[in-house]
Order: sequence, then C-alpha cells, then structure tokens
Amino acid sequence: MQGSFEALIGLEVHVQLRTATKAFCSCPLDASAPPNTLTCPVCLGHPGTLPVANRVMIEHTLRLALALNASIQPVSTFSRKNYFYPDLPKGYQITQFHDTLCYNGRLDIELDTGKTRTIGISRIHLEEDAGKSLYNSDGVQLDFNRCGIPLLELVTEPDLTSPREARIFLATVRQLVTYLGISDGEMETGSLRCDANISVRRPGGAIPSTWTELKNMNSLRNVETAVAHEIERQVSLLRQDTFIRPCTFSWDDAANRLVPMRSKETTSEYRYFPDPDLPPLTISPELIDSIKATQPELPAARRERIMDRYHLPAYDARVLTAEKTLADYYEQAASHLQQKTPEAFRLLCRWTTREVLHAFRKQPADSGFPVPPDHLAFLVNRMLNATLTARTAGEVFLEMLREHAHPREILERKDLTQISTPDIIAPVVTTILDRHPDLVEEYISGKTALRGFFIGEIMKATAGRANPSLALRVLEAELEKRRAGA
Ligand SMILES: [Zn+2]
Repeated sequence: MQGSFEALIGLEVHVQLRTATKAFCSCPLDASAPPNTLTCPVCLGHPGTLPVANRVMIEHTLRLALALNASIQPVSTFSRKNYFYPDLPKGYQITQFHDTLCYNGRLDIELDTGKTRTIGISRIHLEEDAGKSLYNSDGVQLDFNRCGIPLLELVTEPDLTSPREARIFLATVRQLVTYLGISDGEMETGSLRCDANISVRRPGGAIPSTWTELKNMNSLRNVETAVAHEIERQVSLLRQDTFIRPCTFSWDDAANRLVPMRSKETTSEYRYFPDPDLPPLTISPELIDSIKATQPELPAARRERIMDRYHLPAYDARVLTAEKTLADYYEQAASHLQQKTPEAFRLLCRWTTREVLHAFRKQPADSGFPVPPDHLAFLVNRMLNATLTARTAGEVFLEMLREHAHPREILERKDLTQISTPDIIAPVVTTILDRHPDLVEEYISGKTALRGFFIGEIMKATAGRANPSLALRVLEAELEKRRAGA
C-alpha cells in the first residue's frame, strides 16, 4: 500500500430491514408514498405516546447474527441518542448503546486473489431511521415518512486494510442480507448505507488514536474511491509530519472529492440514556432455536450445492450465486429443462450468466423481468434437440426482452423456426456448390477443411436457420455424389 504506511478501516453498515411496519409503531413502509403520509403520533414523538418494538425486526437481526456467528445477548436495552436536527421531530433517535443485541461476530470475505480473510464484527444493533431533508429551489422540505423505519447497524473491527477490501466486505454483507431475506440491500435507494472510519499507521505501530469518518457513500464504487482518497490524504499529512485531526467527510461523487462536514461529535455529546418507554429486550432460547430452524441457505452453501447438482465449475457457480435473484432464476429455469444432463445444465448456465445477467443489470428480476425462467428453458430445450440454432435463439431472446412474449409465439410469427427438412436444404446446397466449382474440385482432391466454408455459406443463405447437423449431412451427400461423378 501507500509506501511505508498501512491503513486501518472499520465500516459501519446500516441495513434497512424488510418489515411491514416501522420499528416502534404500526405505520407501514412504502418508499413510493407521497411525503408525510406515513406518520403517526408515535413516530413523530408526540407527548404521551408509547413505542412498541417490532418483533420482525428483532427476528431479522437475530438471523444476521446467527449467519455471522455473533453472540446474542439474552437481555439488551434501547437508549435515546439526543441531538437536534430538523428531520428528527422527536429530538432523539431510539438506538441500542449500552447493551447491544449482538456482538463479536465474523464474516469471511473472498479477495480478488481467491484467498479468504476473516473480518471481525464488534456489534450488531437495532435503531430507527430519521426523516429526510429534501433540498430544492424552495429551500428545505421535510419528509417524515422515513422516521422510525427499522435499521440494523453492523460495526466491524478495524480489520480492513485496503479500499478494495472495504468494497468486497460491503458487497458480501449485501449478498448475505438478500439471501437472508431481511433487506433488499439496495444502495441506490438507501436500503444499504455505509460509513467508514479510517486511520493510517506505520506497519505494526500502535493502534492510532485519531480517526476520520466518511459518510454518504451510496455505491460500492463510491466506497472504494472515497476510502482511497482519505488514505492518500492521511498519508500525505503524515509524510509532512502534520497532525491528523478527527473530522467527518462527506463524499461528493460528482466532484470526485471529500468535503469536510464538521468536527466529529464525541459520544458524550449525544447524552445517551436508557429509553424509559421501552422495557429491556429479552431473547428466549426458544426464539433463537426457531430462527435457526428456519434459516435459509446461505451463499457459500448454495454455491457448493449448485456446483454439485448441476455439474458446474466453481467460477460459473460463483457468478450464478453472487446475486440471489440470478441463482433463483437459474434453478427455476433448470427445473423446466427436458434433459437433466450436464450438457443441458451448462448450456443453460451460459445463457443465464451472459444474456440474462446482462439484461438483469438493466432490469432486475423483482421489477417485472420480461423473460420468465421457463421461457428461457424453452429456448435451451430447442437448442438441445437441435431444432433451433444459437444464433436464432439469440434473436428470439432479444424479442422476448422487448415484447414479454412466449418464444414459441415469436418463432411462429417471425418464421424463425429451424429448417429441418432436407427438401429445403438440398437446393440451397446445390446452388452453392454450383457457384464454386473450383472449390468443389479442391475438396474432392482432399482439401476437406473446405467443408467449413460450405457450411458457412449454407447458413448465410438460410439466415442461420438451417439445422447444422442436417446441413452437414446433405452437403456431404452432395459432395460424395459429385466425387463419384467426377
Ligand atoms: Zn408511526
């Protein structure tokens, strides 16, 4: 890394939990609702109201804790974090500070080299979100719909040592929460947010006492770039023997730079105290057992199973399982294959990791992806029984993306079905051979590699619709006829 310095990076990841209602009241969650339509006296902090903790958000947190091998506290507490900000109508945020729900976990991340590193998780706790300030030409507008939405905060040990590792860690958390079904994990919409704490030291030196904080990084790429900028800044200060001040920076993506926000608050400035309205949170061993029993298959296990069941190489299985939606898509399509052979599974995998993945990037599965898995399986089945060429299948797939139609319908309408009758192919072959008498002669005198050229011409003449094995049979028969006649 940066000459003779090493970086220490800790992440604070906020995950918006997928629940029907808010953390401490019964307001529903709906990101598309008009501003200030999903509020009630509880989440607005009116005097005399009482919060009640949402059971599902607690179960979601326990699910993640179990997946990260974290310890779960039988009794934890909720506290109030007091600060004034216009988007916080209560004047405090309910969070866990003194006794957090889970602590001491770990997450393995796979580096670009293929090696694995274990990153320590110091704590996982629950809190509620604040509202949103919308800045526009009229000034500032406040939307309180987000007030009280359940968030899980996961804090790592300062175990990450490079911007790349920070990015991989966050991507791994994202993958995990989507597999667990506890969040949609989307950074663009703010369901997954991340702050970073950064310090730099001489290798093997003491843990530094000064840290800076980075906020507002809303994509994996942003995290990697912003962390790299901050490490570079600290190293250049240390090289000039300049003191590093604790500071909070916001990442300005458009300007590609860090913007200082304020000097960092210390915890004493938040005046944390136990929330008198919420009883201690008690977790029974029965609850933990019931969550263990219903834990879904996690990414590493799924990758192993997919390799095994569909005879796929590790690389393909990794691409398929990187996103849960893609792995689900593949497995659903595989269930519609007529032949359950390694060849069929591999062909389907090729189409899923190329064409489908490419299209997913523009339109993910959960937002009405136009090609259902059984439609792709239909195309693959037709390719496997040699009634459709890969080229025609590619054309049909593009139509399927555009039209939401069944491939059978598209094939019939566009007359794209494969030509599998010798009566149609034979005259095409005759015409092509008549056009190249010199090449036919060369073929007859032993240059059999010309077969490839003739096949190419047949495909051109039939717009790729000729059944390749039939075309080859007709071609060889015709060439044999001419050899006998010569
Ligand atoms: Zn409410």
